[in-house]
Amino acid sequence: MTTLIPIHLKCPRCGKVFLSSVLASTGSIGIYSDLCRRFSGLNPLPYLIHTCPYCTLTGYRDEFARASFIENKPLLSDQEFGCKKYEFLAARYANENKNPYEIAKVYHMGMCCARLSKDPILESRFLMLAFEWLLKAFKEGVVPEKEKPVALYLLGEFLRLMGKFDNAIEYYQSVANQKSADDWLVDLAFKQMKFAKKGDRKLKEL
Ligand SMILES: [Zn+2]
Repeated sequence: MTTLIPIHLKCPRCGKVFLSSVLASTGSIGIYSDLCRRFSGLNPLPYLIHTCPYCTLTGYRDEFARASFIENKPLLSDQEFGCKKYEFLAARYANENKNPYEIAKVYHMGMCCARLSKDPILESRFLMLAFEWLLKAFKEGVVPEKEKPVALYLLGEFLRLMGKFDNAIEYYQSVANQKSADDWLVDLAFKQMKFAKKGDRKLKEL
């Protein structure tokens, strides 16, 4: 089960203090076929990153200092941003010219987050963006070698979820051609390929 601890953080960009939360515990109950994790209780994913409500700088916990002195006045919180935090983080990384593979991973996480928060419009937008950035990462040759099998599988799965079955099948097939692919991933790619061949674009629970 998801439990949270409130925390005061200081933004490294604008210097303002805001209220956020960090995770004390989560309850993982499995994964979906696009490798998003499933959890019991409250969606924990918005709490893995933090957004300054004053300037929208978004990052991981270690980028923000803990604020020890709190003025006696109400503080803004980053609670309201929810899964949109992932969009802020991806935009920041794009602005900093980070590896497109890292940006794709942020959108993928945002997509998982939006699903758990039952926001299908945001989920499908993040799905498109995760797909586009992952494709760009392959085109630029910047996907780390050891992560290529999983990344190819995800391209197949993203395409299947979008209903582009022929392209999805090609990517599932390419997973098996990767020498470093783990057996479980090859098995999963063949399983998902069968769904694509039947024109089934539904997400599966593994
Ligand atoms: Zn700030």
